[in-house]
Amino acid sequence: MRIDVLGVGFDNMTMEQAVAEGVRLMSTAGAHYAVTPNPEIVEICREDEEARSAVNGGDLVLADGIGIIYGAKILGTPLKGRVTGIGFAQGLMERMAENGKTLFLLGAKPGVAERAAENLQRQYPGLRVAGTHDGYFQEDGPVIEEIRAAGADVVFVCLGAPKQEKWMKRNGGATGAKLLVGLGGCLDVFSGEVQRAPEIFQKLGLEWLHRLVKNPSRAGRMMKLPLFLVHAAGERKK
Ligand code: UDP
Repeated sequence: MRIDVLGVGFDNMTMEQAVAEGVRLMSTAGAHYAVTPNPEIVEICREDEEARSAVNGGDLVLADGIGIIYGAKILGTPLKGRVTGIGFAQGLMERMAENGKTLFLLGAKPGVAERAAENLQRQYPGLRVAGTHDGYFQEDGPVIEEIRAAGADVVFVCLGAPKQEKWMKRNGGATGAKLLVGLGGCLDVFSGEVQRAPEIFQKLGLEWLHRLVKNPSRAGRMMKLPLFLVHAAGERKK
């Protein structure tokens, strides 16, 4: 049973449960995809029907960000905890390295996915990166073909939201991969291009504040967070 937060149904799982389910899906026939919505994406889904259907169509819908946890609490249906996209990806890569599964990295500016691949193969000995492609392509066909030819089990799709969710819903099956995961700006972090917030910020659920300080141009996008909390409070009153 999923927990509804303003129209998006979240799986009520701990990180360990989510990674275990991801590992199960990557070994199960057929294409599956996982999404990691934060409050900003929930707000987008309220206005974009196609985005909402792509997000809710995920085989795993994980609560990325402290805002979702607050929202669920305000609505009177609390979730077990945060399952950040980056933490989920790290958990999956540990298991992939042990199991000999292959990974394809799709997204970010040219050169970023290659640098991320080098770093990740160093950090997770045994992890096999079967291919990479930047996120600024015009046609889906050749990219799908590249993933298929690489024979990847898992694809990290980092095109930003809601583009990546729509892309996975539309094209996941054609890639031949068993699990696609929508991970926003994760390749920028894995490549070393962008620093993740210090641990103290992560523990306090203040990663958003760190990102805002580092990149003040995100302020407009981040106004969606208070709006999300207002909507959650309004929904509760009803
Ligand atoms: N991106 C991309 N193709 C696009 C638009 C964006 O590959 O057409 C990439 C962008 O370079 C960045 C990521 O998608 O690496 C989105 O990052 P952002 O920090 O906005 O994502 P979030 O984690 O906040 O969803």
